[in-house]
Amino acid sequence: MSSTRPDQANTAWDVVIIGAGPAGAATAITLAKFGQRVLLVEERVTAAFKLGESLPPNAISLVKHFLGDIEGSAQSIPGLFRTAGNISVWATEQPEVTDFFFTLTGFGLNVERLAFDEALRSNAVTAGATLLKGVRFESCARIADSSFNWQLRISSDTQTQQHRARYLVDCSGRRAVVARALGILPVPEHDRLFAYAQWFSCAGDDDDRYTRIEAAPHGWWYSNRLPGEESDEIKRLVVLHSDKDLPVAKMAARQQGFDQLLNESTHIAPLLKSKGYRSCGTIRGAPANSQRLQRFCGDAWMAVGDAAQAYDPLSSQGMDKALKTGSHAGHMIHYALTDCPQGKDGLGSSSTFIHQYNEQQHQLWDTYVTQRDYFYGTQPRWSDHPFWQRRRQKAQRPLARASDVI
Ligand SMILES: Cc1cc2nc3c(=O)[nH]c(=O)nc-3n(C[C@H](O)[C@H](O)[C@H](O)COP(=O)(O)OP(=O)(O)OC[C@H]3O[C@@H](n4cnc5c(N)ncnc54)[C@H](O)[C@@H]3O)c2cc1C
Repeated sequence: MSSTRPDQANTAWDVVIIGAGPAGAATAITLAKFGQRVLLVEERVTAAFKLGESLPPNAISLVKHFLGDIEGSAQSIPGLFRTAGNISVWATEQPEVTDFFFTLTGFGLNVERLAFDEALRSNAVTAGATLLKGVRFESCARIADSSFNWQLRISSDTQTQQHRARYLVDCSGRRAVVARALGILPVPEHDRLFAYAQWFSCAGDDDDRYTRIEAAPHGWWYSNRLPGEESDEIKRLVVLHSDKDLPVAKMAARQQGFDQLLNESTHIAPLLKSKGYRSCGTIRGAPANSQRLQRFCGDAWMAVGDAAQAYDPLSSQGMDKALKTGSHAGHMIHYALTDCPQGKDGLGSSSTFIHQYNEQQHQLWDTYVTQRDYFYGTQPRWSDHPFWQRRRQKAQRPLARASDVI
């Protein structure tokens, strides 16, 4: 168990945040800057693999807010790499270019997630939060006779600790461990999208700064060059998204099948070939389906980031949403706690502030679903393939508002 502050013996907190990804770090930074006593709990000491991910230009101001001024020095901040736009082969075989040059910032970012997440955590500690790494959330129980609302059990490989908190935040990503412990589950599956990722390397030049998207009969491809350390090798990530229950998913999980599917792509395979790329490492899989909780918040707890709602990577909004909702959650929790300094009531949906957060989550979900269905609906080919049939059917259904499923 490791702490980045000497006061780890403290076990009483205003807010305990479970999960120190972008959502957890952003929530912690916001609350700690208000002077709240914040404990940020992260299961991993060093993360396993993370994909290189893209941030659109409209997310840059938020990144600056949490990581400082990156203007003119994107390369010097660990894990950041400027991107020029998107090239998508979607509605037709003809590539469509969206150039970030014409946006306010003029560029987007590709981030190396390990470094990006670490920089955010480090800023949370600088803002005054206490970070415990290598520590897992185990359980939580309501306390009746104290000014604290929660008794939490967290554990590392070697010990278990008890902590008390006035407010509890679930930032544990798609696993939503706190919400599940409270009996709040994700609404039944929206889709079964799964991502199969393969890294490639080449010794030559690749100055392509465009994110590549390509529709395929059984799903869609994503590729971009990765921000790298100073080395002779350049790396590129290639990801196939398809539904986990389709036969093609079994193929994509194995090297031979992945290569075969990739060879059938009309733009990404030729791009790799032209630069002399070779695959390296093994294929990694990750769930990429749309997911949202039955409830986003309750008495003295809320879910933020992917724990509350997780998006299809086609949206490229996951991290932007994690930072944005982390900031909003931090403000609303601070106002709610300030409104009832000792009280135990008023930290649920009867609080105007918590209610506002809940409303924002509902609106975000409705907007996301509308946009997702619209984009899938603009791809007219392969209408006899299940991957596209499923999405076309969804696009034709009237929108089920997030509030309808509660
Ligand atoms: C294939 C794929 C591609 C993507 N591409 C993009 C992209 O290009 N652009 C983009 O913006 N987004 C992308 N996303 C989405 C993005 O990765 C997520 O939206 C983002 O990571 C959400 O941040 P978060 O902090 O909510 O959750 P996470 O980043 O998942 O962080 C959750 C943290 O909680 C910790 N945790 C979990 N359980 C416990 C526990 N019991 N105790 C303590 N800690 C715990 C985890 O270790 C983790 O560090 C992609 C997602 C996928 C699957």
